[in-house]
Amino acid sequence: MFEGLTALPADPILGLSAAYKADTNPNKVDLGVGVYKDEQGNTPVLRAVKQAEQAYFNTENTKVYIGPPGSAAANTLLQNLIFGADHAAIKANRVRTIQTPGGCGSLRDAAELIKKANPSATVWVSDPTWANHIPLLGNAGLAIKTYPYYDHASKSVNFDAMMETLSKVGKGDLVLLHGCCHNPCGADLNQTQWQAVAQLALKNGFTPFIDMAYQGFGEGLEQDAYGVRLMANTVPELIVSSSCSKNFGLYRERAGALSIVYASAADADKGQSNLFSVVRGMYSMPPNHGSAIVETILGSATLTAEWHQELAEMRDRIKALRALLNKKLIEKGAPGDFNFIEQQSGMFSFLGINKAQVQSLVQDYSIYLVDSSRINIAGISLTNVDYLAESIVAVLKQ
Ligand code: PMP
Repeated sequence: MFEGLTALPADPILGLSAAYKADTNPNKVDLGVGVYKDEQGNTPVLRAVKQAEQAYFNTENTKVYIGPPGSAAANTLLQNLIFGADHAAIKANRVRTIQTPGGCGSLRDAAELIKKANPSATVWVSDPTWANHIPLLGNAGLAIKTYPYYDHASKSVNFDAMMETLSKVGKGDLVLLHGCCHNPCGADLNQTQWQAVAQLALKNGFTPFIDMAYQGFGEGLEQDAYGVRLMANTVPELIVSSSCSKNFGLYRERAGALSIVYASAADADKGQSNLFSVVRGMYSMPPNHGSAIVETILGSATLTAEWHQELAEMRDRIKALRALLNKKLIEKGAPGDFNFIEQQSGMFSFLGINKAQVQSLVQDYSIYLVDSSRINIAGISLTNVDYLAESIVAVLKQ
């Protein structure tokens, strides 16, 4: 039966990683794959995670199934982290959270539930958006359309164009928004813009769907949740997919959550029962370990303090590297203005160079980045930043 399949091209990011590994240039720089890296280029296990794993090892007394929603305690802790413990929607018993296999599992679960509730729903995603949004939502059978978002000329959000398109979206459809640290463009909505989108959602009746993969990587845990919390205060229904991959560094453990704010507690119970059925039909139950570690950290004041410290270290390093790259580009005489790199948020920005220039960086300078010119800021280091800035300038002047 499989002889009829046609081979698909390899994932471009994974291909880039393989090429980087094989490259013998001692100056090579990897700005491709979207994982956090320290000054040495490593993605270590967080100290708080190691301690939580040790504590969990000592107390874990069964490997029995945890059920489709995962751990109730973990779900409550994550719900509080995302919405704030005293959020009105939580107090009104309108929020339900389930544990999911990473942010991807959460997005896919949400897509399946949407499909059940409204098979003809369209999900509007930003142009551009994270590439995997398309298969995660589309493979569930949802229609996908794009709204204008990043303006490559001004290197910022084209908010007027975004609102113009969203003003035509109505009840039954969804608008996918990045909670913070937009992947791939790094340009986020400001508070006034969040307020305007929330008011539009209320007026037109579309359901906001927020992907929150980087809480704590932008301005801080609370600040980064501004959009989610505002939206949950404004509209009757909201979907939030969140990930513990980046902020807890748990990538391969597949820890995430799906939180849905329903219009009423009764709707929430109905929605939750449908979600359990979705989960049973896809992977039956989520993996335990990553979520158990998150639960151990968030359930301990000491480990939470340690985690906050480590999260701040990662965030501050990314911010410092943004400022440093901009400074080095100015120093080395880069044509054009790269101040936007410093202004943007999270791990990603587009350098804003063309495909031929990207190819030259990869082939002539061993600087690895994807064709769109998206760079992972965490791949920059104090050691490679001069070489990186010089190479960018050289390519720009070619
Ligand atoms: N959404 C966005 C925007 C992301 O960048 C990612 C991770 N790259 C995810 C969701 C999901 O991540 P994971 O499934 O690894 O938790």
